[in-house]
Amino acid sequence: MATRKRILITGAAGFLGSHLCDRFIKEDFHVIAMDNLITGDLRNIEHLFKLENFEFYNHDVSTFVYVPGELDYILHFASPASPIDYLKIPIQTLKVGSLGTHNLLGLARHKKARMLIASTSEIYGDPSVNPQPEEYWGNVNTVGPRGVYDEAKRFQESITMAYHTFHGVETRIVRIFNTYGPRMRLNDGRVLPAFIGQAIRGEDLTVFGDGSQTRSFCYVDDLIEGIYRLLFSDYALPMNIGNPSEITIKEFGEEIIKLTGTSQKMVYKELPTDDPKQRRPDITKARAILGWEPKVSRAEGLKITYEYFKSLPKDVLEKVEHKDFTTYNK
Ligand code: NAD
Ligand code: UDP
Repeated sequence: MATRKRILITGAAGFLGSHLCDRFIKEDFHVIAMDNLITGDLRNIEHLFKLENFEFYNHDVSTFVYVPGELDYILHFASPASPIDYLKIPIQTLKVGSLGTHNLLGLARHKKARMLIASTSEIYGDPSVNPQPEEYWGNVNTVGPRGVYDEAKRFQESITMAYHTFHGVETRIVRIFNTYGPRMRLNDGRVLPAFIGQAIRGEDLTVFGDGSQTRSFCYVDDLIEGIYRLLFSDYALPMNIGNPSEITIKEFGEEIIKLTGTSQKMVYKELPTDDPKQRRPDITKARAILGWEPKVSRAEGLKITYEYFKSLPKDVLEKVEHKDFTTYNK
């Protein structure tokens, strides 16, 4: 039997990290999962614990990272990712994007592993061009409430390119646009779990601002396929991966009302500070270089995600930590 390739996945107990674990187990890798569970949940990966080619380390990657044995690949996905999470834990967000990335790049260099980092459309800030191509440099408020995330991710890209250029580490940078699917945390404050949770609990849907701001939602399976292809490509510059189908938040609310059949309505709340007014990926590069584009329509993806949320235990469905986003929006 050929020796399995060994991959370290940070943020493994989170939404995207857990789907990446599944994918690399399916591809017969030895998966070393790492997470400090600050926003993740072991239930996302508990089905993998019985496998001999899966191991888990409960560790904060912002402190020195030790992994015994060889490593072929590192996927760095550890980071708070929802606006509410990074407003609640701003320092940890800055640390995991900066110190955490530095530690993992050092590990990649030492092990001669290829490392892919999870960057984000947030590096474009509140963009003045739409759709956003990779060449757009962004419009970020460094000291606003979202700055802790945006700047950590911008620094993460810079240090990753520096390790690539100066130390010859093989690196890949994916800029992820709003992604959804099973295993999102119901109460993480992101718009899709917020709306679906509200519909299930029989509450009104909270639209921030007048709902004219846009987002472009990608189903998780499509994203994972894009990341998989990018990792095995030879492309080291940042690459957008997302679904270019753009929709206003108000229209999105209407879709959720139709999907769930709720008799509740949309209510309008204050728009959070620096909330981007438009967001849509230009995926010309992903199409040309990876031969990738999203396959799952919003209608299909939302249906699967709604079924997932409905299947959660009652106590999880009813636990709402953040009723009002604006509480954190100082
Ligand atoms: P998530 O909160 O579900 O997962 C993040 C995981 O990282 C959690 O399990 C958390 O416990 C872990 N973590 C955080 N800090 C850590 C630390 N210091 N040490 C170890 N583990 C730590 O979020 P997600 O949506 O799965 O996002 C994963 C990555 O993808 C993040 O880097 C995020 O910035 C990026 N991203 C996600 C989206 C999206 O739409 N989901 C969009 C853009 C970028
Ligand atoms: N939003 C909303 N109601 C909610 C949660 C979010 O109207 O209960 C809006 C939010 O203001 C933003 C969009 O939905 O314009 C997407 O927010 P999310 O937190 O999902 O992610 P973002 O793209 O802002 O990082």
